Amino acid sequence: MNARALAVALFLGFCPLRSAPQTSTLPSILVKAGKLLDVRKGAYVENAGVWIAGQRIKEVGHFPEVQAHVPKNTKVIELGRATVLPGLIDCHTHLMARIPEGPDGYTLNLATKSQAFRALEGAYNARITLEAGFTSVRDVENEGAGYADVALRDAIEQALAEGPRMQVATRAIAAVGQYNPFGISPDLSDFPTGAQMVSGQEEARRAVREQIGHGADLIKVYADWLHPTLTVDEIRVVVEEAHKLGRKVAAHASTPEGVRNAVTAGVDSIEHGHRVDQQDLELMKAKGTFLVPTVGGIDASVERYSKEPETERRKEMQTYLGELLQSIQQAIQEAMRLGVKMALGYDAGSPERQGKNADEFVALTKRGMPPLEAIRAATLNAAELMNWQDRVGSIEAGKYADFIAVEGDPLSDIAVLRQVEFVMKGGTVVKDILPH
Ligand SMILES: [Zn+2]
Repeated sequence: MNARALAVALFLGFCPLRSAPQTSTLPSILVKAGKLLDVRKGAYVENAGVWIAGQRIKEVGHFPEVQAHVPKNTKVIELGRATVLPGLIDCHTHLMARIPEGPDGYTLNLATKSQAFRALEGAYNARITLEAGFTSVRDVENEGAGYADVALRDAIEQALAEGPRMQVATRAIAAVGQYNPFGISPDLSDFPTGAQMVSGQEEARRAVREQIGHGADLIKVYADWLHPTLTVDEIRVVVEEAHKLGRKVAAHASTPEGVRNAVTAGVDSIEHGHRVDQQDLELMKAKGTFLVPTVGGIDASVERYSKEPETERRKEMQTYLGELLQSIQQAIQEAMRLGVKMALGYDAGSPERQGKNADEFVALTKRGMPPLEAIRAATLNAAELMNWQDRVGSIEAGKYADFIAVEGDPLSDIAVLRQVEFVMKGGTVVKDILPH
């Protein structure tokens, strides 16, 4: 029962509680893994066993010991020599977005697709993201899909669609005129927008209340675009309203001033932070603000431009992206040095990139992040950012039985995470292409 239903029960004297199933009747599974990564210790457990009762992990340890505790009739799943890791978490997804590449892609996406179609696109993206080994996502706005992300989250929870556990930000909040779509005729006053546009503190407050009322788990704000946009006071009101209702705030910010405004206002994470400076990072460290660097998308753009015919525009873009990547690399290294917490986010929004979330591991390690830290960014750290550290992010007793298996050793070759061969979510096998 969710929190809102609980409140109805408490205040209206109505109790829709059903009796919880008894532990003894839960289906029992024992997974045998050649090698299991303990992300907390940063070490492998050889010949590991994981006992699952229902959706949760009951015990983890050396196989013979765990095996001695499981009830009779426990189903055994053998994963051979594969390496088992916790289910991965992407903290910056846009599952409702399959926006065509190119300058008019965003506008066309809004103009040509119904909300119903957007929801179905979301369901497809959710499935391929899960199959890529990402069992939880923090979806940081739906790019003009109304509240379809709430519907998708709930449909997945009710097993009507297949996908990761989701936290959704719904519409996001941006300053009037400072987010997609740009260049729309002023005569088209009802043309849909990519975010909820506000001006002033009261509009910002109302937007947060509205979005949470319609099911947002977190709030996303745009602190800047090419320049700083929302004021510190506008962002502060967003943070105040969201925190009051137990929701975190993620801020898109890429310019040094945008980051500063957002962190000063008290947001919980900076998304991108591509041009974050030393002063910003020190402030983030002091306030415990997370950084979600999103590098893989820039690498993908560089690759895309390299395949285009040589033009002036291509040259300009390559120079711009090259400089941006240098700045990101500096930011990541400085954040690591200062101990700023980082979570992984791939920021896919196009048909080409949805489901390729693991590319972010490769992108992060290319900028000097050790493989174990990149894996922690997508497990322990991500769970902490989502405030879900009690349920996901590691293979430990009490948590959801969410895990994946790959061939090879991700600590020496992170790219093996691009080929996830086994996925279990909440005790259910959702993918298995391991050579048994
Ligand atoms: Zn994004």
